[in-house]
Amino acid sequence: MTDLAEARRLDDADPLAHFRSRFTWPDGVIYLDGNSLGALPVATPGRVEKVIREEWGIGLIRSWNDADWISMPQRVGSKIAPLIGAEPDEVIAADSVSVNLFKLIAAALAMQPGRTVVLSEPGNFPTDLYMIQGLEGQGLADQKTAAADDLEAALGDDVALLLLTHVHYKSGRMHEMARLTKAAHDVGALVLWDLSHSVGAVEVDLNGCDADFAVGCGYKYLNGGPGAPAFAYVAKRHHDALQQPLSGWMGHAAPFAFSDDYTPAPGVDRLLAGTPHILGLAALEVGVDIAAEIGTAALAEKSRRMSEFFRAVVTEKLPDLELVSPTDPAVRGSQLSFRHEHAYPICQALIARGIIGDFREPDILRFGFAPSYLSFEDVFKAATALAELIERGEWQRPEFSERSKVT
Ligand SMILES: *Cc1c(COP(=O)(O)O)cnc(C)c1O
Repeated sequence: MTDLAEARRLDDADPLAHFRSRFTWPDGVIYLDGNSLGALPVATPGRVEKVIREEWGIGLIRSWNDADWISMPQRVGSKIAPLIGAEPDEVIAADSVSVNLFKLIAAALAMQPGRTVVLSEPGNFPTDLYMIQGLEGQGLADQKTAAADDLEAALGDDVALLLLTHVHYKSGRMHEMARLTKAAHDVGALVLWDLSHSVGAVEVDLNGCDADFAVGCGYKYLNGGPGAPAFAYVAKRHHDALQQPLSGWMGHAAPFAFSDDYTPAPGVDRLLAGTPHILGLAALEVGVDIAAEIGTAALAEKSRRMSEFFRAVVTEKLPDLELVSPTDPAVRGSQLSFRHEHAYPICQALIARGIIGDFREPDILRFGFAPSYLSFEDVFKAATALAELIERGEWQRPEFSERSKVT
């Protein structure tokens, strides 16, 4: 059954329902874009204000020690670790996903003398490919791509690194991390997983899969706020050999010795380059704490149930709408993507009704089901509104076709 009463029954039985009140909601909005920018936790403004007014305003430079600002990248990283199947000292929060990709692709290449190929897939998130291409421009890498089903066949003994996004940003399709990691290792390649659309929404077991490296995003399902710091993971067995090219002073073994010569800090600390972004880390920590409190298993379970409920309502009301995501929730992330020739104006018409999903070029309507704050009632109402406005042709109003800068 897919009616409103059923949605409310699912909400009543939802063990995570009370987490909704930990987030701030504008009136009249149903938010299905938490996979692009997570919602604002109620506690974040107070926490950031405290850092600004007390720790910065009054503590001034003393707060590096007194408020332990200096350990924030490690502390926030250690809280992300259990969400991705890592040990606390294998994860650090810093920089952006793009910058962390650069550091770790370069570090992997340095560990693989005689190999230069970085294998990825066409249509991967652009920054992942662009970062390989940047290193190609430096003469350090050779990009090779193979479609998802051909990756194993493309793994040869020239491949230094396999770089994949675990959950595809457009389709939501999820790679089999354990199988692909093993296939890469079998030919002597290392593996770097981009977890931007995974962390906080699906189960990830990096150490269980014997992964080498990973990066992930702080502002999507971790609700760290726009431009929140990202994170990076390095398996412990690589800590001593890890050499990253952005050898800034904060990644030095003794930054305050002010020595002329670079000596890397132990473990993942050497992934730091410059001074940590304390305001960003403070906001990110609030979001991470909520995700850690709920735990990955419960987040993933609710994600699957919500996306399945949305799919059931849409299938019933719009049987012709083409689903691009896998139908099996076990092999997709916390999103559903549909193909429609008029995806852009449909998305704008939905936003005009207060239902925020997003559009991805050229014809994809994408809906994310952030498990910590969405209700089944939201999901039902959004799917019903989608069906209604497509049936009525409501999206045909000319203003819905005007493209904005950020889609
Ligand atoms: C969102 C996202 C990023 C973001 O990278 P930034 O450098 O933090 O902007 C990277 N990779 C994937 C797969 C993403 O979905």
